[in-house]
Order: sequence, then C-alpha cells, then structure tokens
Amino acid sequence: STEFSVNNTQPRGGYIMLIGKVEGTIKVGDTLNQTIDEPRRELIMKNHTGTHVLNYALRQVLKDAADQKGSLVAPDRMRFDFTAKGAMTPEQVKETEMIAQALIDQNGEVFAKDSSLAQAKAVKGLRAVFDETYPDPVRVVSIGVPVEQLLGDPDGPAGNQTSVEFCGGTHLRRAGHVGKFVIASEEAIAKGIRRMYALTGPEAERAIHRADRFEQRIAELVKTIEGDKSLVNDRDRYRATSKQIFAFDAEVIQSTLPQWRRDELRTKAKAATKILDGYAKQAQAAVAEKVLAEAKTLVEKAKNEKVVVHIFPPGATGKALDSALKQLKTTSAAMAFSVDEEQNRITVFAKVDQASIDSGLKATEWVNAVCELVGGKGGGKETQAQAVGNRPEAVDQALQLAREFAKTKIGS
Ligand SMILES: [Zn+2]
Repeated sequence: STEFSVNNTQPRGGYIMLIGKVEGTIKVGDTLNQTIDEPRRELIMKNHTGTHVLNYALRQVLKDAADQKGSLVAPDRMRFDFTAKGAMTPEQVKETEMIAQALIDQNGEVFAKDSSLAQAKAVKGLRAVFDETYPDPVRVVSIGVPVEQLLGDPDGPAGNQTSVEFCGGTHLRRAGHVGKFVIASEEAIAKGIRRMYALTGPEAERAIHRADRFEQRIAELVKTIEGDKSLVNDRDRYRATSKQIFAFDAEVIQSTLPQWRRDELRTKAKAATKILDGYAKQAQAAVAEKVLAEAKTLVEKAKNEKVVVHIFPPGATGKALDSALKQLKTTSAAMAFSVDEEQNRITVFAKVDQASIDSGLKATEWVNAVCELVGGKGGGKETQAQAVGNRPEAVDQALQLAREFAKTKIGS
C-alpha cells in the first residue's frame, strides 16, 4: 500500500499544502486514511498552548514592553522571542512562570473561532504579531473566555485578563492539560530582543525534579560544611569540599532547570563557598596566633643575640611574620621564614635597626641575598623587607645563608 509521511505544512494561496515523502504513488481521486503521531502531537499541543500562556504572562510582567518577535514550538520545548529593554531580573522570570502556571491551573477551556479580521482586531488585549499579515476571516484562540464573548464586548476587560491571539495552530482542549510550566532560560539574542526557552508537561516536571535534587544536595553540602569544624585545619578535606562546590555550580549551570531556581541554587553555592572562606580565615588567624606566641618565647632566647633568623610555623602570612618580628625589640636584625608546602610558597620577612644599617646590613639586601635560593623576588625598605618564593624545599639552605650573610656584615 502507498504511504505519504507528512513532515511539514505550508499555507499557499488559501490552501494548506502538505509536504512529505510518498512511498508508492498517489493520484487524484485516491482516498487516504489520516493517522497522527499522537504522543508527539500531544507534546506539541502542550507547548503551543503553553506558548500562548507565556505570551500572556510576559505581558503581565513587562507590560507593553514585551512584543512577540517569533516563536518555535517543538515536542520537547518552546522558544519565544520578544522585545524588552534589557535582561529580566530573576524575580521577573519567576513571576512570569508563576503567572503562567496560575493561568494553566485555572484549567480554562481553550476556545477557537473564526472571526472577521476587523472585528477581531477591535478586541482590547488581543495579542497580534505586529508585522504579520493575517487572513480574513482569522482564527481567534482564547483561554477561559469564549471568543464570542470577547467579540461582543471588545472594549471590556476580559481581553486583558487572559490569553487572546490570532492563531491557526493546534491546541489543547483545556489549559490545565499543559501540566507543569517552566521557564528554562532567558537571554539576549539581539539588541532589545530577548529569547526564552520554556518547557511544559513531562519535560517541565523533569526540570522541577532535577531542581529538587540539586536543592537537596546543596542543603546537605551546606549542613556538612557548617557542622564540620575540622575543615578549618584539614587542608585536604577543605580543598575537596571546595572542589565539590565548584563542581556543583558547574553542573547547575549546565542542567535544564527552572531559571529562577538555577539562580537560587547558584546563590546557595556561593554562600557555601563563603562559609569555607570563613574557615580559611580562621585557619590563618590560628597560624598568626601561633606565630605570635612563638615570637614571644623567642624574645627571651634572643635577648643576647644581635641576629635572629627563625623559621615560624607553616602557612604564616607576611603580615603575621611582621607582627612576630615586632616582638623582637632588642634584636638588631631579625629574619623570619614560613613555608606553605601546599601552596608551594615560602615567605621571608626581615627587619633591621639603624645600627645594623650603619654597619652595612640593609633589610632589602639581606632579603635579596636569599631570594635566588628560595626562588622569589623581594622588596621593601632599608629597615624592613620581604619576599615570597616558590622553592619552600630550599628553606634550610636559606636559613643558613641568611645567618652567614648577617654575620659577615654585623657579626653574630
Ligand atoms: Zn498559536
């Protein structure tokens, strides 16, 4: 038997042309049985009625700024282009989705009726695409309010309170059959023109469930981070957790989700990073405290030394070393080291008094003397200087070199 698979239809000269592939032959006068790919058609209907609902909801949020610029209805999603002054805020996107879902949940009947073009155009609130030419008579599709009622009271409020459009497309019988509705993205495609992708029915449900799972994941992650103070000192776990948040955020960006929920999830990921940052600060403060405590015990030991070269606990910042050396008031020349194996970093800080400078030991020269060894660059003043290098493994040699250098200048 002959089969004609239609994959496109086009209006031509008042007729609808079916375009597709014929297997066998068809001749004038043949009788054909029409069958429709119903599951596919049903999804298209959901997205088409959903497109009308979205058009309505957008105008509620953006008022007259939003004009339809084109749309595409597919089984798995819809695309909707519209005019707007700029990007919509996350709140506006959420509000649009809520208004659309509310109209769907009212489950109004979807009405369709032919009308004279002039009479239909008189209906206040009717959404027409500005530069499109419409046939006369034209088919009017409205949700929840019969077309006759709209035509009978064109100046009434009904046209602004629901979706009314010119449309020849295929629609659901009731708005509620759209099911769930989700705005998956909102972005610019040209100056003054925005593009939305939206989902209905099963695809929308999947996106919502996906967001629910992400929500659960980030909540658990935050709970773990908040409850696990060992993250302050356990660098490996700290780094692994930081990576986990980063991976979560990357996954959220890539996933098909309600846009406003994607925004919220990313905000939560940022908040989780902030808690971790707080831990890092705590860890740094703990090191600084340790360094200071050690400096205080060093004061006693260094009482009779002109030169002190000391390695402090790992991970100390230049600032922490600076405060440590400030404790050594009676020492003429002091140099502090601290290594950070994980960051592959060595920090050097030196401080000398005027007598040392007069004897030929300047802080800058002292620091520079060890710079090559520690793989870094130094800077500062005659009285104090610092350097950061990337060869922490050279610390023992650097300590020795620093002592010898000072000794040759001012004696020990
Ligand atoms: Zn339509």
